[in-house]
Amino acid sequence: MNKILIVNGNVVLFEEQEDFTLKTVVKNVDILVNDNKIVKIEKDILEQDAKVIDATGKIVMPGLINMHAHIPMSIFRELVDGCTLDKWLNEEIWPREDKLTPNDVYYSSMLSLIEACKTGTTLLNDQYFFTESSIKATHNLPLRYVVSRCLTGTNSPSNKRIDEWLEIYNNRNEDIDTNIYSVLSLHGLYTTDKEYLKLVSKLCNEYNLSLHMHFCENEKEQNDIKKMYKVKYPSEILEKYFQDINLILAHCVKLDKEDFSSLRGLRANVVYNPVSNLRLGCGIADIKNMLKNHINVCLGTDGQGSSSNLDMFEAMNFASLIQKGYYENPTILDASTIIQMATINGAKALKLDKKIGSIEVGKLADIIIVDTSKITLKPMNDILSNIVHNIKGSDVTHTIVNGQILMEDKKITVNLNQNDIIEKCNEIAKRISN
Ligand SMILES: [Zn+2]
Repeated sequence: MNKILIVNGNVVLFEEQEDFTLKTVVKNVDILVNDNKIVKIEKDILEQDAKVIDATGKIVMPGLINMHAHIPMSIFRELVDGCTLDKWLNEEIWPREDKLTPNDVYYSSMLSLIEACKTGTTLLNDQYFFTESSIKATHNLPLRYVVSRCLTGTNSPSNKRIDEWLEIYNNRNEDIDTNIYSVLSLHGLYTTDKEYLKLVSKLCNEYNLSLHMHFCENEKEQNDIKKMYKVKYPSEILEKYFQDINLILAHCVKLDKEDFSSLRGLRANVVYNPVSNLRLGCGIADIKNMLKNHINVCLGTDGQGSSSNLDMFEAMNFASLIQKGYYENPTILDASTIIQMATINGAKALKLDKKIGSIEVGKLADIIIVDTSKITLKPMNDILSNIVHNIKGSDVTHTIVNGQILMEDKKITVNLNQNDIIEKCNEIAKRISN
């Protein structure tokens, strides 16, 4: 038996409207999970053999989908402050990353997986190296994990990074790793060249995989791309090399006006990382214009080096507040839209929306439960607004992934030595600083 009955919760659901857009609604219903799927959503479900979770007074919602992370970067949390992206990468991050070992990446990944699980994230779209170590970590705490080996560089004869990725991809075991998905990932257009882009494009087509990359994170990157490739606007390069490829573009903070219609014509999804973009002084992405152009926008945190944490509730709050303030318009990016960005839109970007991203009969059971008993949530006038603006990741009590309860009453259910993991990460942070 592996049945879970979640009783009497305020359940966040998406209802399709006549124009095929989704409306986020809340209903007081029960949810029955059988094995790894949601099989019933209705009032007063009677089921004999299920494990019952009483969600009275709590919020039950789809697991959050963090569409841009570098999970081993947990060790860089609050490492530097007041640094531009360029200086941060070149002087602070990359020299330290050169000192990392596969074992370091295992422990720093574990730390992030625990953090994500505890704050209600059920899927992480990751980009890093020593990828086998992160995969090993997800075997211990099986959140959904999108695996890729960050590709940078030029078309050198060895193409070492591509070979590494091919080895991981060809040795994957889809029967065991049901929570693991593959994409290709490129660090960015400014850390590669045309020949390498051709190669990556060929691989995407050959293996039918999406491409995840940083794109136009700040003005310098926007200008560098235009100069390097001699193009009028950065997306011209995407049009040329990645026309038919599903693109997951992190940031898109600084775009030319031509980029918006270009991205609309491409198979492009944008990942908005509001906290990281502010922290590195990159600017504010024009999300309003993206939505006007019907571009799928989802949410991410980026690594903890620039976002402090992986709390997707914080990302939701910042995403909404910044856009409202920037446009001096409180009506844009309402709570319904923001919640979809943090859930179903991420699933769409990964082409997994038929399977995950919402609480629906037939979908895989990725569900979180949020406690609402603390004083700052009283009275609960509007559940959706509270989710976006007032609830913190630390309010999550249960995290269920693929029908497996990974956190129950705020305790991780799988056997992990958290103190050991924290201690190891402290040691790594200290060692690579020297
Ligand atoms: Zn990033």
